[in-house]
Amino acid sequence: MSTLKEYRRKRDFKITKEPRGARAARTRAAAATGIFVVQEHHARRLHWDFRLEAEGVLKSWAVTKEPSPSLGVRRLAIETEDHPLDYAQFEGEIPKNAYGAGRVTIWDHGNYEAIKPVARSMENGLVEVFLKGRKLKGRFVLVRTRGEGAKAQWLFFKAKPKIARLKIPEI
Ligand code: MN
Repeated sequence: MSTLKEYRRKRDFKITKEPRGARAARTRAAAATGIFVVQEHHARRLHWDFRLEAEGVLKSWAVTKEPSPSLGVRRLAIETEDHPLDYAQFEGEIPKNAYGAGRVTIWDHGNYEAIKPVARSMENGLVEVFLKGRKLKGRFVLVRTRGEGAKAQWLFFKAKPKIARLKIPEI
């Protein structure tokens, strides 16, 4: 289930300019397309927040090193709380003393396509998306390696495209 409760609980919107997110936007639960964004976040520890639109929110992971556009270069990604859709446009300075204090810039953004809806494949611990960004292009995979829900550990990397098996007609 998607909820912004955790997102709001962590933040004081009198201090931060991050969007409050009026409510989870209505999108088809079964939709397997949407936007993605990667935000470079100069928090206490520099990381890259990878977010995928699903079920009216942005499903989110904190990636500990800069995501790689090259095949098979694995990055540790820690699952974090759902963010509101309009967070995808957020750039700016989260003030000192606020949650996640530090500068946020958009590192990459674009659309994605998937075969299965992202929220459902997250439950199964394997998310496959085709990213159409400026830096990240092609088939990317998230594989859950430890834990479940918030703080679960995943690996994020570019993977070879699947080649459809050719149907060779019998002669
Ligand atoms: Mn972050």
